[in-house]
Amino acid sequence: MHQADVIVLGAGIIGVSTAMHLRQRGLDVILVDRRYPGEETSFGNAGVVERNGFAPHPFPSNPITLLQILFGQSSAVSLDLKALPQLLPWLAAYKRYGSQRHVQDYARIMGRMREMVLEEHAKLSELANSQRFYRKSGWLHLFKSGPGFSAGDTERYFARVFGVDYHELDEEGIAGLERDLTTTGYSGLFWPQTESVSSPGAVTEAIWRAFVREGGKFFSADATPLKRVRGQWMLPCDRGELVGRHVVVALGPWSGEFCKQFGDPFPLAVKRGHHLHFRPRSGASLSRPVVDMSNGFVLTPMEKGIRLTTGVDFSHRDAAPNVAQMALAERRAREIFPLGEAVDAEPWCGSRPCLPDSLPVLGKSQKVANLWYNFGHGHSGFTLGPLSGRLMSELILGQTPAVDVEPFSPARFGPQT
Ligand SMILES: Cc1cc2nc3c(=O)[nH]c(=O)nc-3n(C[C@H](O)[C@H](O)[C@H](O)COP(=O)(O)OP(=O)(O)OC[C@H]3O[C@@H](n4cnc5c(N)ncnc54)[C@H](O)[C@@H]3O)c2cc1C
Repeated sequence: MHQADVIVLGAGIIGVSTAMHLRQRGLDVILVDRRYPGEETSFGNAGVVERNGFAPHPFPSNPITLLQILFGQSSAVSLDLKALPQLLPWLAAYKRYGSQRHVQDYARIMGRMREMVLEEHAKLSELANSQRFYRKSGWLHLFKSGPGFSAGDTERYFARVFGVDYHELDEEGIAGLERDLTTTGYSGLFWPQTESVSSPGAVTEAIWRAFVREGGKFFSADATPLKRVRGQWMLPCDRGELVGRHVVVALGPWSGEFCKQFGDPFPLAVKRGHHLHFRPRSGASLSRPVVDMSNGFVLTPMEKGIRLTTGVDFSHRDAAPNVAQMALAERRAREIFPLGEAVDAEPWCGSRPCLPDSLPVLGKSQKVANLWYNFGHGHSGFTLGPLSGRLMSELILGQTPAVDVEPFSPARFGPQT
């Protein structure tokens, strides 16, 4: 039998950060994953640690965009019609949260979170000795010039409100930052405070290693058989029974179905995304992540090559990779950057765990004692991981969290049945 104060389920960026913060505060912590740490969503993302990000990803409303989505011609958003009936209630709620009032609430909530994210990454990367993966590179948003540029209006407005720097760039300005981008017809926004990493999986693994060095325990096990017995949490695994007083669910895109068994059916959907690595053509290079806002893809220089990540794919989480969306993104990416041959044989596919209000669930179960939730970080989980881990540890210890966590309350979707 292995006893701990807290069992953390899931060793993605959210779980390892939570486990590390709890351990740093002196608790006995067991971390559980059925895979090696950092191999799922936290492995395959675009590696952006975003200082901006004040507007939720909007529900597409432009009729031309909707037609492109319907006919499979949008690399920014793809929709599997077979998944539509199941997705409809979630999509309807997501659309409702596109109201101006919610956008303002979201910006206020995220404004405070984003103020802290770089510092929280810096603290964990120092403990984990993973600073070498970080780049203070900023990131570059590209817009089709003209009306396309107005897509960034909300983001720019809130950046001014929160005092976050950005620079508007014309074609020449973009070329001054990234000489190998084809900039004809593009305007740019450069966000100098944003950072990026050259391997999100390695950053996640490094936090896990630091956690183990600090005396935390890791067990390879499936979380599904978790049971509450006489006020204790019990989870059988190959190496015996894991016993804990508290449990934190940090299972990312798998959290929704897991929570149902405890009477908490959260409206968690996934926005899938894909990546492939490419060699740059001879002599070409990229210094920072570049997002093509019109086509929804990101190019990030990574250890393995230039990582091309796609926009959103609304499909069943476990469906086969959407090779058509990946191919479309590749075609469009080649128009702006000289990508050489692909490094990977197959595209990687992962799932952004998303609530319809684009905010995570971070707090205590209303139904079951000593059950805590930390999941649903959507497009920004890699950025928010270290801070979310800190907030979770403060809540469990009964301390006042560094940020007001009320907006993340598990109870906010109304009485759950
Ligand atoms: C294409 C793409 C690009 C992205 N780009 C960025 C970006 O640039 N910046 C950013 O901030 N965010 C980005 N994100 C979002 C970010 O990657 C996620 O929000 C984040 O990784 C979620 O972390 P997590 O720990 O919640 O989930 P995960 O990393 O998926 O971890 C969940 C863990 O739970 C484990 N697990 C699941 N079920 C069980 C079970 N039954 N038993 C045991 N273990 C289980 C899994 O094995 C996994 O290790 C991107 C996402 C995608 C898909």
